[in-house]
Amino acid sequence: MAARMDIAPLSEWGFFTLPRPCTIAGPCSAESEDQVMDTARQLRQVGINVYRAGIWKPRTHPGCFEGAGVEGLKWMQKAKKEFGLKICTEVASEKHVFECLKHGIDMVWLGARTSANPFLVEEIAEALRDTDIPVLVKNPVNPDLDLWIGALERLNRQGIRKIGVIHRGFSSLTEKKYRNSPEWQVAVELRSRYPEMPFFCDPSHMAGCRDYLQDLSQQAMNLGFDGLMIESHCDPSCALSDAKQQLTPSQLIELLEGLTVRDSDTDNQEYHENIDQLRTRIDSCDEEILRTLGARMQISRKIGQYKKENNISIIQASRWDNILESVLKSADIYGLDRDFITKVFNAIHEASVREQNRILSE
Ligand code: PEP
Ligand code: MN
Repeated sequence: MAARMDIAPLSEWGFFTLPRPCTIAGPCSAESEDQVMDTARQLRQVGINVYRAGIWKPRTHPGCFEGAGVEGLKWMQKAKKEFGLKICTEVASEKHVFECLKHGIDMVWLGARTSANPFLVEEIAEALRDTDIPVLVKNPVNPDLDLWIGALERLNRQGIRKIGVIHRGFSSLTEKKYRNSPEWQVAVELRSRYPEMPFFCDPSHMAGCRDYLQDLSQQAMNLGFDGLMIESHCDPSCALSDAKQQLTPSQLIELLEGLTVRDSDTDNQEYHENIDQLRTRIDSCDEEILRTLGARMQISRKIGQYKKENNISIIQASRWDNILESVLKSADIYGLDRDFITKVFNAIHEASVREQNRILSE
């Protein structure tokens, strides 16, 4: 059961120079003092004031670059001092938190592999108790909304009010285009449960390559995300981690300037009147769908009863194939996406089979 959370709005964090998107940018990893300083200087020049860099890197395979460690925190601290940046990094243990606190880190985030682990989250939450630094929680690697919420609750229970989320997509066996499948509906559900929670999108880890960053960032703006965390490196092709997905600072500013940022509301009276009318029409369409589904289920029950009386099994595969074929032809006529309609009708079929199964078992 999800607990209520006491969340400080982004305006209280004093981090971002609005307007949206509130942007956190910097390299995947801190690699050397020169790379950290050069990237920070260039990002500062294009107006970025919150700087990220990974210090301890959770790599899939051993033997890859696993981060510069505490030495890297010193470079970050130098960038903070020299360019007046807020600095942030990923923490995955209590030890990381203590090192960050010693080195003036202004904000931390929990990576996707950490927020999936309640033991680690608890340990980090306890280490952060009594500090005032904001904590962003990336979604767990798998699309488990409760696990994500649980991580936020663990932090909030320790009195940490400056909490926010980063949606970075989910690992998936079937996703081909993106490194991590966006599954926007998971983030949208979280947002509707905690509308006051600051919401960031990390298009870099979602995309896995530069080509999709603009489009994913725009989708995040369309969904009303407050901000973006984007990887940016002074020389992406030489990056020691995530080279394919990083942008130069000037490519980053180009991306940000190309975004259309949507407002969450307006005081335009005419807009409200029109949207209210359209919503009323949507509501009556929904009512009609439900009425039709109810009628369909009644008939399905009758069929179940009739099959039972005649001792016939529930599934006749060819019948379902025929239904689907004719439904998809109609979907084309009505301009409806075939995948969407296949999902809807499979769900309807499943519910019918379940109901007939119940009748046959009575
Ligand atoms: C990162 O931000 O560099 C990172 C490792 O991200 P994630 O936890 O989303 O994989
Ligand atoms: Mn990365």
